Amino acid sequence: MNSNTSNPLSNIPGIDSLLSTDAGNQLIKKFGHKAMVDTLRDQISSLRKEIQQDPTALIPDDETLLAQAETDLGQRNASSLKPVINLTGTVIHTNLGRSLLPRSAIEQMQLIGASASNLEFDLQTGKRGDRDTHTEQLLAELTGAEAATVVNNNAAAVLLVLNTLAKNKEVPVSRGELVEIGGSFRIPDIMSGSGCKLVEVGTTNRTHLKDYAQAINSETAMLMKVHTSNYEIQGYTKSVDEFELANLAREHKLPFVTDLGSGTLVDFEQLGLPPEPTVQQAITSGADLVTFSGDKLLGGPQAGIIVGSHALISQLKANPLKRALRVDKVTIAMLFEVLKLYRNPDTLVAALPTLRHLTRSVNEIERLAHKLVPEFAAQLGEFAEVSAVPCESQIGSGSLPTARLASWGVSITPSDTTRRHEQTLQLIIQGFRNIPIPVIGRVQDGTLIFDLRTLDNPEHLITQLSHVSIP
Ligand SMILES: *Cc1c(COP(=O)(O)O)cnc(C)c1O
Repeated sequence: MNSNTSNPLSNIPGIDSLLSTDAGNQLIKKFGHKAMVDTLRDQISSLRKEIQQDPTALIPDDETLLAQAETDLGQRNASSLKPVINLTGTVIHTNLGRSLLPRSAIEQMQLIGASASNLEFDLQTGKRGDRDTHTEQLLAELTGAEAATVVNNNAAAVLLVLNTLAKNKEVPVSRGELVEIGGSFRIPDIMSGSGCKLVEVGTTNRTHLKDYAQAINSETAMLMKVHTSNYEIQGYTKSVDEFELANLAREHKLPFVTDLGSGTLVDFEQLGLPPEPTVQQAITSGADLVTFSGDKLLGGPQAGIIVGSHALISQLKANPLKRALRVDKVTIAMLFEVLKLYRNPDTLVAALPTLRHLTRSVNEIERLAHKLVPEFAAQLGEFAEVSAVPCESQIGSGSLPTARLASWGVSITPSDTTRRHEQTLQLIIQGFRNIPIPVIGRVQDGTLIFDLRTLDNPEHLITQLSHVSIP
């Protein structure tokens, strides 16, 4: 580099000269001319400031400046949304994206995402079609309902039902069912947002049929039962079951709606899991509409599914809000593939990640824990004690709130005596987050636990371990 001691600023290379080098040309091909000019301009302007403050500061050579531009642009282009390895022990983890999709759904998503499709086009008549036709028949077949429609999520499903059937009217709901789910979904808020008036009946722990009966008047639009999915009241409790409520609604010629929240289509007890009401049971008990999530226990994409009578589903479809809440083609493609798996109970569990994880044998998880302990220990030996421990997984997403599934994990307990226990623990947790594919565990009694129930690919995890470094 020429040195011009009288004015060090003149030694800073120009953007054009940097871009005209071979390396500069390569980067233009990779990131585009405009992005390169913008980045180099930022770099050079901060370099000028640096030199103005300290005229003896070193001016980097062209190669270094271009390498820095490449790093900056690479980071700016990296997706903020990226895969992580969920070893929290919560199988359906809302903050980590809930259900993992089966292979068949991913293939279909690629196919439909990349191509035009008959999303709303009737191939028989050549006329405009209805996007619900692609899933409605299968939903009816699997749930025993007459008709179905699909919206963006279950919160949207509840909103659409209330807005369609109960706007400016009253809906009695048991006090014990006025739930908040994950802070963003509160039944009372959804009710006011949908324009209907909530009438609280009963008490937090006990609600009787007569409480509902007394609340019914000429302003009542419907009866509703909400599955209290993320908490459980134990002790002196009473709630009114669906069958009784359905009969009461029928006597008063009112629709009866059940918000199941998770809503499974299979008998959980047969799978060795804690019991969970099925959509079929809700329909058999007399619900006129049932709402449930696509990405909770069903194991599919984010969606809100509404099944029920022809007449009521038609009313929902005619509400302009349905247009605002509709799902896209990729969701429909995935949902169909997930639902299809339920047609064959013999292969369902193996094919659907959510059910496979929930039913995984504890012996298999234990073997995996013992196998992985040396891999973790090799990486953390000087900071922590690593061992295989029994632990308990949760289902998550408000499903079966008190149920725990026996599991095994790798526990990491700080043993570094030069720092405080909590400080080392936080450094270790961060070490596992600051790697290309972050590994997320949970802390329990001062120990970091990686529950292996949801680990599908141990080799993949081992590769990530080699990136972990604790300062
Ligand atoms: C989870 C849940 C919802 C919201 O479902 P999303 O699909 O997350 O929008 C509504 N009601 C109940 C009872 C739930 O458990």
